[in-house]
Amino acid sequence: MVGQCVNPKCGRELRYLRDGRIYLFEVVAMPGTRRPEHFWLCGKCSATMKLNLSATGEVKLSPLPAQANPHKVGYPDLPFPRAG
Ligand SMILES: [Zn+2]
Repeated sequence: MVGQCVNPKCGRELRYLRDGRIYLFEVVAMPGTRRPEHFWLCGKCSATMKLNLSATGEVKLSPLPAQANPHKVGYPDLPFPRAG
């Protein structure tokens, strides 16, 4: 069972399933066999990264495109400085 964030640099404990993302991948258990396994990426890590399964059956972290980060959304600059 998933116990902590799959990012080795994070390692945050799983407490709430609503925090972050759960992934289900068919990983290679033994050569020629695969089994389903769950992986959890915490909320902080899933804001900037995602999980992929490589062709060889390994789970890999990869960065999300910058525009996918909801915390980086800003407002367009105003043409004139606002008074007050
Ligand atoms: Zn994490």
